[in-house]
Amino acid sequence: MMAGAVRGVVAPLALLALAGCGRESTAPAVTATTARHFVIVTLDTLRADRLGAYGSTSVPTPNFDRLAREGVRALDATTHVPITRPSHATMFTARYPAEHGVRDNISLPLASDVPTLAASLKAAGFTTAAFVSSFVLASSSGLDRGFDHYDDDVDAAGAAGPPSIAQAQRRGDITLQRLEQWLDAHAPAKQTSRTALWVHLYDPHDPYEPPEPFASQYAGRPYDGEVAWTDTLLGRLRSSLEARGLWNDTLVLITADHGESLGEHGETGHGFFAYETTLRVPLVVRGPGIGAGQTLAPTFRLVDVTPTVLELLGVPGIAGVTGRSLASALTQGAAPEPVTTYAESLTPLVHYQWSDLRVLRDGPWKYILAPRPELYDLGADPGETRDLSTSNTATARRLRAALEGLLKAERARALDPASRPAVSAETLQKLGALGYVSPGAPKDSVAQGADPKDKIAEFSLLSGLMREGLALLKEKRYAESVSRFGRLREEGADSFQLHFYLGEALAGLGRHRDAEASFSRSLAIMPAFTAAHVSLANARIARTDLTGAIAALQQGQKDAPNEPLLYDREGQVWQTLGDRTRAMAAFERVAALAPTDALVRWRMGELLLSTGQPDAALGRFREATTLDPTVADFWNSLGMVLGGGGQHGEAAQAFREAVTRDSANARYTYNLGLVLQRSGQPEAAEWFRRTLTLDPTFRPARDRLAELAR
Ligand SMILES: [Zn+2]
Repeated sequence: MMAGAVRGVVAPLALLALAGCGRESTAPAVTATTARHFVIVTLDTLRADRLGAYGSTSVPTPNFDRLAREGVRALDATTHVPITRPSHATMFTARYPAEHGVRDNISLPLASDVPTLAASLKAAGFTTAAFVSSFVLASSSGLDRGFDHYDDDVDAAGAAGPPSIAQAQRRGDITLQRLEQWLDAHAPAKQTSRTALWVHLYDPHDPYEPPEPFASQYAGRPYDGEVAWTDTLLGRLRSSLEARGLWNDTLVLITADHGESLGEHGETGHGFFAYETTLRVPLVVRGPGIGAGQTLAPTFRLVDVTPTVLELLGVPGIAGVTGRSLASALTQGAAPEPVTTYAESLTPLVHYQWSDLRVLRDGPWKYILAPRPELYDLGADPGETRDLSTSNTATARRLRAALEGLLKAERARALDPASRPAVSAETLQKLGALGYVSPGAPKDSVAQGADPKDKIAEFSLLSGLMREGLALLKEKRYAESVSRFGRLREEGADSFQLHFYLGEALAGLGRHRDAEASFSRSLAIMPAFTAAHVSLANARIARTDLTGAIAALQQGQKDAPNEPLLYDREGQVWQTLGDRTRAMAAFERVAALAPTDALVRWRMGELLLSTGQPDAALGRFREATTLDPTVADFWNSLGMVLGGGGQHGEAAQAFREAVTRDSANARYTYNLGLVLQRSGQPEAAEWFRRTLTLDPTFRPARDRLAELAR
């Protein structure tokens, strides 16, 4: 609907001639073969102009370049929002941010009724698996829907509580290792099954800390080092798929969710402005049926990814979306109809109450709606250095009118009650006031307030202080961290994240009452912020106000429904209070909300055991070890229940699993020895001796050895 509204006013397209893209688009001569498998790789924060295939000479990127040579390279690929979560949501739903509702990295999850690429592929019989490297793409984003396996186990746990949202990440080699393990465990049969994979690599994202040898090779330009390192990861991914016989029959699409500003326009990073440094992305498609060594001149919008992939894989498309398929352009060199491209940056509005930025591109013309609008001719001025809004007023007016059409549709959607996510009215109102559920953004919020162009220095100062405060918090230098966050408060900053992190730093100093006030302030601004509810509860627990902690968690359950963490913490507090019934009720809620959460099943097992229900406990421990076989404690608990029930053989096996996972724990070796002793096996003595090696003070092991010696 949105695209239709715009299409009427689109002028004939003048194709972009971007820097570094010299070759003409040529028609790929290919036969229509359909790939059996599919892999999409999203390289977070990767600027197109850092890749050799896009003209870079500063960083060798042989693996990406080889893919580009073997496939079709989009000369002009673009995102619609320079932020990770909403960009991926757009890519995977074929809808613009206002249409799918994910506008920020801490938005509500993608609504469950918005169709996704993964869900379509799964419905078509694909086995689907995703491996993501950033917390902002964790299953709480809602992007996990449609995936049979969703590996989002990034390093999110920090001693000081939830870490900076942007810092919770894992290195790409770990992500690839998880993918390889999954491939080995599932061994996709080449001829009989279809597999679809999403691999997200976060490495080029700030902080720029490439591993050696790239850190040394790129000393002084660590972003380039991350690019070089990421290119080697692409090589490893290819080898992994080749080694398993999957590569030749796989459709590969590689792109980025956004670029990175390295000082251009005064911006460092991404997510504030809406210039091409952060909107332009690389995009390559390779695989059966795709022409080799070709380029694609028409704009490849990330909103087009899902329709294109579905058609290339022979899977029915999703009706009513804004994106369109470029499959025939990729396979036959067909020239698609020109379309406009929309983009936005709401960060200045959402986090600083300044004006938002709304963008419409039509061919080479790019219009940025702001208090002081801008117009650029990207063909002649790819660096966006000459604003033509006052000299070419006709074009500016035309693009503005087209953009207004989109914004009108956005406002109409906001008024449609059916489009609202199922959260409390109060939450919606507060989120809306912040621009969060922009379906609920106030009518006059567009291009109102301070112009971000006038605020870049202030933004840099504030985000710099925020960064420092967070780094200090991570290092547990709480007093210094409080001082950075305090300066931000003095500068007038009043964001929910600031109050949250200030609360974390205060809690680190043991100032729990002050911390509580900060968490409450954070929640007043952002009621659905789960982490703040948990931290508020933790601050109350620290003051031994357990009833208050329960109240905080229950309020959180109202403001952020279906967040397992809030019930999990509640269950633990009830357990401390000795109310096993309520504890169990809370854990059962977690288990229902998080079907793959092994830890809560283990907790339930322990609780059942403590209330004299070993049979029920046994079932939970079995679930825990099935869901996550890597945790030694789960196996140990399973072994204890089995042993207690006289099933010595199976118990011994469980303890052996525990010992395999953690060979330095004397409890496990002792338990193994004990169950072997009870079933009369001489091997028992060996395990008691090993227990004493691990822990010479482990008295029961000594006693058992003495018994055996008799
Ligand atoms: Zn990103």
